[in-house]
Amino acid sequence: MSDIPADPRPIVLTGDRPTGPLHLGHFCGSLRNRVTLQHGHDTFVPIADAQALTDNTDDPRRITRHVIDLALDDLAVGIDPSLTTICVQSALPALCELTQLFLNLVTVVRLERNPTIKEEIQARGFGRDIPAGFLCYPVAQAADSAAFRATLVPVGADQAPMIEQTHAIVRRLNRQVGHALLPEARASIPASGRLPGVDGRAKMSKSQGNALALSATEDEIRAAVRRMDTDPDHLRVGDPGRVEGNVVFTDPDAFDPDRDTIAELKARYRRGGLGDTVVKQRLETVLLDLLAPIRASRAAWAHRPDDVRDILRDGTRHARGVTQATLDTVKDALGLYRLAP
Ligand code: ATP
Ligand code: MG
Repeated sequence: MSDIPADPRPIVLTGDRPTGPLHLGHFCGSLRNRVTLQHGHDTFVPIADAQALTDNTDDPRRITRHVIDLALDDLAVGIDPSLTTICVQSALPALCELTQLFLNLVTVVRLERNPTIKEEIQARGFGRDIPAGFLCYPVAQAADSAAFRATLVPVGADQAPMIEQTHAIVRRLNRQVGHALLPEARASIPASGRLPGVDGRAKMSKSQGNALALSATEDEIRAAVRRMDTDPDHLRVGDPGRVEGNVVFTDPDAFDPDRDTIAELKARYRRGGLGDTVVKQRLETVLLDLLAPIRASRAAWAHRPDDVRDILRDGTRHARGVTQATLDTVKDALGLYRLAP
């Protein structure tokens, strides 16, 4: 019995849930990073439809409808299918089997302590009726990461507890089998932190209805910027304003390449003498410039539906081989019964 050999290239894994169009939060939290990392790494991007069912049980078809949309968003921002394997999670049965094995390596108390899960349970209003699959989705995520033998996971800051959970499971498995069977993936979390919603709430999120989609039209971008709340105490242009936690400044921090002008605008806003309208006009221009090429690329891919379907089919086929190989190795290492050939 041998360890999985060290891969010559580090393996990057990161996915999204097909619960709606990808948005600016995804762009700064993960997409930008994964576009860069695909050069020089084997990169896998599963579309996490099985995970999305954990809190969308009543409407699986809605999740399925978003699968192609998500692929289009990935392709539009520059995920290159010749460098990155885009695949569909629910079509990878080895992930379920590995999840089942991993569930025995974690306690319910540990799952309930996960701060992101706690926050999400509250946001979704589950009360005590938490779907078991939802509570356990960090375990499924650990299985995803392990099955692809990921060494680097580019994710937003909200995912840090999931990476810790993955480490705990992988360490326990490695200890149990007595050798470094699976790698412990390292998180790559951008310094920009998590992007607040256009309503100023803590996190831009598809499920919270406070997101600006990467596919937004020019009118939708303008309307979203117009609606953004600013500092409620900044009533007159001459009043000093608050920059921290003010969404019209958080967004430029994440997306405006002209750092000097942003620093100057912030200083003027803090001192007083800078109106919200001016800040919003600049933000509008920055977002229009950022999203125009993404929208154009998305439209071009949308005209090639057969190619998009082929990318998903080929990617999933490749991913099936990779994940099954890991599952076989884990089963062997645990000493599970093997039928005679
Ligand atoms: P849902 O509301 O359905 O959970 P979501 O908007 O939270 O959707 P996910 O698909 O759960 O998006 O997240 C995919 C990736 O994007 C994760 O790595 C996550 O950390 C990152 N991400 C999502 N929202 C943000 C955000 N507002 N800021 C930074 N990163 C984000
Ligand atoms: Mg989420």
